[in-house]
Amino acid sequence: MIAHVEKDVCIGCGACPSICPEVFEMDEDGLAIALREQVPEDQEELAEEAAESCPTEAIILN
Ligand code: SF4
Repeated sequence: MIAHVEKDVCIGCGACPSICPEVFEMDEDGLAIALREQVPEDQEELAEEAAESCPTEAIILN
């Protein structure tokens, strides 16, 4: 699974790093980034939960 954050769409709510800190982090702009694009297998469920929790659907998982 590959994780990507659409920074144009992120509103910086902070939900994704609080749900899945192994994959998502807030950067210096106060917007989320994917720390690693390749999501470790044991983090896939949390990454999906983070994507579902994103209020602007800024997280793309492939
Ligand atoms: S949950 Fe969505 S809007 Fe909130 S910080 Fe993460 S990517 Fe941005």
